[in-house]
Amino acid sequence: MAGQAQIIDGKAVAEQVRAQVARDVANLKNSHGITPGLAVVIVGEDPASQVYVRNKGKQTTAAGMKSVEHKLPATVSELKLLELVGELNRADDIHGILVQLPLPKHIDAAKVIEAIDPLKDVDGFHPVNVGRLSIGARALVPCTPAGCMILAKTVKPSLEGLDAIVIGRSNIVGKPLAQLLLAAGCTVTVAHSKTRDLPAQVRRADLVMAAVGRPEFVRGDWIKPGAIVIDVGINRVTGADGRDKLVGDVAYDEAAKVAGAITPVPGGVGPMTIACLLRNTLEAARGVAGDVG
Ligand code: NAD
Repeated sequence: MAGQAQIIDGKAVAEQVRAQVARDVANLKNSHGITPGLAVVIVGEDPASQVYVRNKGKQTTAAGMKSVEHKLPATVSELKLLELVGELNRADDIHGILVQLPLPKHIDAAKVIEAIDPLKDVDGFHPVNVGRLSIGARALVPCTPAGCMILAKTVKPSLEGLDAIVIGRSNIVGKPLAQLLLAAGCTVTVAHSKTRDLPAQVRRADLVMAAVGRPEFVRGDWIKPGAIVIDVGINRVTGADGRDKLVGDVAYDEAAKVAGAITPVPGGVGPMTIACLLRNTLEAARGVAGDVG
């Protein structure tokens, strides 16, 4: 049974973000004759990545942007991939470049990310964007963390002064999320696999962001009453009925009884990632148009 917490509807919020992007894309076309273009590069046949890339393409087109997909075989050489990135860097009609991760083992992902023009790095993984985010300069911000911030702000528009905990310190989620929370004026704890007494750390937090990658790891009795809980985790588990289902990193039913607001899985953070990717592509294109201050 659901508890008292407000359920944060990530699907609805993502739809609003995409609608705003579509309006802004139309304005950019009118004012500057620019159609934002996103190129997605996928290497190999990983089924999850294929589905994800297909969704990105559909939603990019639906927002009025140009979508280009480059499918390369798993055996492609690092050099060939770097050459393609170079071509996309130079292409005037492409404003955002995303190389779908993970890449095959023979390719150095860091090298590929660093080859992307930072102004077209819509994943926000290039060291220039990582650095700019950390010094509070304008940057292309990683999509999933950006989505988490939007969701938290739907509950509390100013997060200033809150005690926040991020569980997980990965480069794609935990670390950028911590930077965004700092920039929003939170007092931030970053917990990870070596953290001592994690439940006690979580109990102090007004805002809990879980990006651990372990099903239902954060328990309800760790949550401070009234806290905002944003669950980044997407874990496939076998349910009691023998069917596969998705669960988050937070034990939802328990936490929903204590929290003030919580994101479900699925339908929470997940849909925000592509919406924020579209926003980044628009921002990259606007940068070219020179009308972003
Ligand atoms: P990761 O494996 O790179 O990082 C996990 C982090 O959790 C590590 O920093 C580790 O220190 C920490 N951790 C592991 N065990 C811990 C423990 N016992 N106590 C405290 N911390 C612990 O994972 P990631 O890429 O950051 O992804 C995290 C989760 O978010 C996964 O479930 C992933 O599927 C999900 N994810 C969702 C989206 C999305 O919604 N679109 C995007 C990216 C990741």
